[in-house]
Order: sequence, then structure tokens, then C-alpha cells
Amino acid sequence: MDYLLALAGNQNSGKTTLFNCLTGSNQHVGNFPGVTVEKKEGCILRHSDMTLVDLPGIYSLSPYTSEEVVTRDFVLKENPRLIINIVDATNIERNLYLTLQLMELSIPMVIALNMMDEVRASGNSIDVGELSRQLGLPVIPISAGKNEGIADLLDAVEKAVKAPAPPRKLDFCSGAVHRAIHAIAHVIEDHAREEGYPTRFAATKLVEGDEPMMAALCRDEGDRQIILHIVEEMEEETGTDREAALADMRYTYIEQLCRDCVTRRQETREQIRSEQIDRLLTHRILGIPIFLGIMLLIFVLTFSVIGAPLQTLLENGIQLLTDGLESLLERAEVSFWLRSLLIDGVCAGVGSVLSFLPLIVLLFFFLSLLEDSGYMARVAFVMDKLLRKIGLSGRSFVPMLIGFGCSVPAIMATRTLSSDRDRKMTIVLTPFMSCSAKLPIYGMITLAFFPRHGGLVMMALYVTGILVAVLSGLLFKSTIFKGDSVPFVMELPAYRMPSPRSVLLHMWEKAKDFLHKAFTIIFVASLIIWFLQSFDWRFNLVPDNASSILASLGSWIAPLFAPLGFNDWRASTALITGLTAKESVVSTLSVLTGASSDAQLSSVLSGIFTPLSSISFLTFTILYMPCVAAFAAAKRELGSWWQAVLAAAYQTGSAYLAALLVYQLGRIFIH
Ligand code: GDP
Ligand code: MG
Repeated sequence: MDYLLALAGNQNSGKTTLFNCLTGSNQHVGNFPGVTVEKKEGCILRHSDMTLVDLPGIYSLSPYTSEEVVTRDFVLKENPRLIINIVDATNIERNLYLTLQLMELSIPMVIALNMMDEVRASGNSIDVGELSRQLGLPVIPISAGKNEGIADLLDAVEKAVKAPAPPRKLDFCSGAVHRAIHAIAHVIEDHAREEGYPTRFAATKLVEGDEPMMAALCRDEGDRQIILHIVEEMEEETGTDREAALADMRYTYIEQLCRDCVTRRQETREQIRSEQIDRLLTHRILGIPIFLGIMLLIFVLTFSVIGAPLQTLLENGIQLLTDGLESLLERAEVSFWLRSLLIDGVCAGVGSVLSFLPLIVLLFFFLSLLEDSGYMARVAFVMDKLLRKIGLSGRSFVPMLIGFGCSVPAIMATRTLSSDRDRKMTIVLTPFMSCSAKLPIYGMITLAFFPRHGGLVMMALYVTGILVAVLSGLLFKSTIFKGDSVPFVMELPAYRMPSPRSVLLHMWEKAKDFLHKAFTIIFVASLIIWFLQSFDWRFNLVPDNASSILASLGSWIAPLFAPLGFNDWRASTALITGLTAKESVVSTLSVLTGASSDAQLSSVLSGIFTPLSSISFLTFTILYMPCVAAFAAAKRELGSWWQAVLAAAYQTGSAYLAALLVYQLGRIFIH
């Protein structure tokens, strides 16, 4: 017999941290609301018969945001045996608001009272026994971050699973609202049973005016009228509208409960500290300059100060390995073409990409520090005003931020946006946020042409992407995506010391992804490129790749790029293989130029590009359509091929235009 357990709670209450504790998995934890979009499953350690599902964070069981829909559908339709409701003890009033709604589902429940370490540190206390008695539910104080109380929680979970008892206590309603809920419960009782909804929950939702519930339960007009009538009476009696009436009722109960159970001497240390830091970091005027300053610092550290020596080190290592392999192959008298395939194809292609690993890991080290400390949530807050100007809201910042890592999860994260207009616009604009796969391209060109200004060039590239996104936003706002974005409400999490585990995990995930890509896609692409550049149409090995199959194919497209300054078949081929994965641009160029080290590559590159045309090439690579994986994700989320193709065409078009501008204007100024 297998049991299904649901883990539900507010955003940023520590659900994923607890999920990882209980299941031993390594899901991404971020001090940032909205990180978990999809539900994740895992078996509880040493209880392989219990499957735990980490649900997206929500504040209420209304059907408005996609997180709410996912979580609500899960608890209503999948019949979990038990709900583990995680409650952030430093924010207990707001968290209990969801608890009260979950209790109405009449599913057995255990409350995990999280972040008790912070409560204790601030000298506050919570009478757990009293809380448990008043709610009629087991309440277990824990600290998921510090791995405290997990054993107790497991005991309580086990007990509740073995002898399930649904929460009985539901008498937190009173007065007119109480009467309305019970009256409606009578009307819909039979329908609710047929549909498998708990009556009490369904009745409350109908009082709130929940449309999906209305559609499911009130099929005849008569019932609908009766319910409307009951609600109108209630509204008249309480003097507020239906949603506010219910919220009032719940908060009145919670206030009383907290008066009995919570002793609060002061705000927690973290809260006080957060307020002080926020006065500076979310400053009306200084906020954005500070953010840009921090990013510049990160780029300089990543690409010049720390990254460059590490990269050279790795490059030398790869060079040594390649040389070793080459002399081994020579001594073993391996045939020329196989040697060339291994050395000029695989080693050159995969090796050139691999050497950028330290840069990527470093960049993500810094970014996860920013995210985990809670700073990124502030940036979203500061950016809201700016994003609003281009017709988006701060909510779109989350996917865009993820876009700096990879466009695929970023495009998926747009699901959290509630308005269709905001979502489509964000899907089109997110690929302009320069993803980490493009880093090796920037690195390669910067090393060759601007070795002493790495950090600055990087910053300029990222800013270019953002700028084009802003301009596109303005354009869309006044043309195809007219209208206003939905208001953005995000709670700012307290600043916290980033946890080393989660930062390391984040870096490891990035490194793993990168290595995986290098040895799969980049590997195969390098083989194919080597093949196409080594043979002519009659499958003779060519002495010079200028007469190869690839050269003749590439020269068809190359003239298209002449106005951008790089009419070279190698550059255009690299851009096309870049569609499989952006790192392929680097591996392709190094296979095609036959360079065996980055230093050599740099000198060959100056035969393809001038410094100016290298900038125009970079501009094109930042902006042109994303790789196939991201394209497929966009197709999925936009819902149709033609929209995805249109988006890609727009992206490639603006890339061409921007690169053209850079090159042609640059020529005027340089001459
Ligand atoms: P979710 O959004 O509910 O999945 O929350 P996460 O698991 O991503 O955690 C949000 C933040 O709270 C992260 O920065 C965690 O490191 C932090 N956190 C989680 N549990 C605890 C805890 O028990 N104590 C403290 N101090 N921080 C915690
Ligand atoms: Mg989470």
C-alpha cells in the first residue's frame, strides 16, 4: 500500500528545503518566491511507501494564479493521504490563512512549524501545545534549514498516515458568514458529494465567488440564484463584499489564536536587519545604480580577476591532454583521418567549450549568492517600476532572471504569470536575456580582441540584451500587446545568509548541465562539422577546408552577413550550428579554424573578424533566435507553431538590425 503525501505552504516558507530533508533529493531552493513552479515528487527517506509531493507555494486556495491551480487541483483530485502544511513561524498570521483553508478539505493534516531557529534567536516564542490544541492538529516545531525536528515530524507523519483522522475543528466561522456557509452547504451538498469535493470547502469557495467551483456544482439556474441570494444577504449584513467578509472572518480567528499562542517581544533579528538593508538597496533612486554596480563587480570578478587565471589553467590542462593523445595516436600509427577526427574534431570542438567551465561556475556562484540572500527579490521590486514602463510587471522579472541561466526553464517559468498578454510578451523577450551558453562565445571573442577589458565588455553585452528587450517591450506595448500589465504584489523575503549547501548545489547543477551538453550535443556537432569540413562533395579528403562541403554550403549564406561585416563562411556556419546549442558557435569556429589552443584560435579569429565586426558578430549572437530546445519550449508555452516562428523571426530580425547598426555606425566613427 503506497501513500501519497502533499507538502503545501506559502511561497518561501521552506517547502523545498523540507522536501529535500525528507526525501534526500536536491531540488533548487531559493530565497525567492516563485521558484517552484511545477510539483516535484520524491520518496520519504526510510519510508519508501510514502511519496511526498512538493507543491508550488500559495497564499490561498483560490483559482487565480497557476500555482494556486496546480496545488488546488492536486489536493482536490489526487486524494492525498495526508497534507504536511509548512508554516513559516516568523510570519505565522499570514501563513495560517492558508492553513484554515486547507483544514476545510477534510484531509488529515500535520503542521510543520518552520524557521523556529529564527523565532528563538529573536527571543520570541510560540506555545506549540496550545496552538495544536486550538487547531486540533499535530503541530511540530522544526527548522528545515538546520535539519532540526525532522525526526519528530516524521513520527507525527507516520502516526497520521497509519491512523488518519481528518481535521474536525471547523468552527472558526461566525455570525453572518457562518450562516451563509451553512446555508450554501445545504444547497450543494449532493452535487459536492458526486463531484468528490468536501462540502465545507465547496461552500466556502462559493461564498467567495469561486467561478470554477460554481461551474462544477451549480449546473441549474435555480441553485445559482439561491446562492447569489444568500451571498447578497450576507454582504448586506456584514457591510463588506464576499471575499473581504471571508478574509475578515479568517483573520479574526487567527488574531485570537495568535494572542493565545504567540509571545512576541520584538521583530525577529532578521526582520529588523532586513528593514535597515532595504532602506538602502530598494532606495527609489539609488536602487538601480546599486544593482548595476553589483553586476559590474560580479562580471569583473568572474571574467577578469578570478575567472581568467582559472580558465588559462584548465586550457593548459586540456592542451596537455590533447598533445598527449596526439603523440599516442601517432606512435600507434593510427590512420590520418581518424587522428584528424579525434584531434581536430572532437578535442578541438569539445575542448574549446570545456575551457569555459570555470567562468560559468563562477558566474553562477555569484548569482546564487544574490538569489539565496534575498537580494534578487529586491531587484524584482526595484525593477517593477521600470518594467511597468515597458508594459510588463515586476512579476516578469522572475522568468527573465532565470533567462540569464537558460531560456528553457525561463520560458517555462512564464506559467506563473496570470495574464496571457504578460506571458506572451515575456516569452518573446526572455531570450534577449543572455543565457549562460552564450558565455563561451563572448569569452572567445573577448579573449581574442579585447583581452584587457573582459568585465566591461561582458557587462556591455548583457546590457545590450536588456536594452533590446526594453525597446521591444515599448514597441509591443504600443502595437500588438496593447493594454496594461497586471499589478505585481510580491512579498520580500527576509535577508538570509546564503546556505553553502544550496549555493554549491546550484553551481554543481550548472556544471553538470554544461558538461553534459559538451559531451553530447557539442560532441556530435563537432563530429558532423569535422566531417563536412574535411570532405568535398565526392567524399575526397580535402587539403584545405575552403573547398569542403561545408564551405560551399556556408558560402551560400555568408553574403547575407556582409553588411554586418563578416562575410565569411566559417562565421555563418558557426551561427547556424549555434542553433543546436549556443556553445556550438565556439566549437564550430575552433574546428573550422583548426586551432588547437585558445591562443592560436585568437590569432586565426583576427583573420575572420576585425575588432569592429567582432562586436557586430557578438551583437548578433546575443539577440538572434534561441537554440532549438528553447524554441520548442516557446512553442509549447505559446501554444502554436506560427507564434513561435514569429517570435524567432522577430528575434533574428532585431539581431540583424542591431548588428547592422553597430557595424555601419562603427565604420563611420572609426574612419
Ligand atoms: P519554498 O519557496 O517554500 O520552497 O522555500 P525554500 O525551501 O526555497 O526556502 C526559502 C528560504 O528559506 C531559503 O533561503 C532557505 O534557505 C530558507 N530556510 C528554509 N528553512 C529554513 C529554516 O528552518 N531556518 C532558516 N533560518 N531559514 C530557512
Ligand atoms: Mg520551493
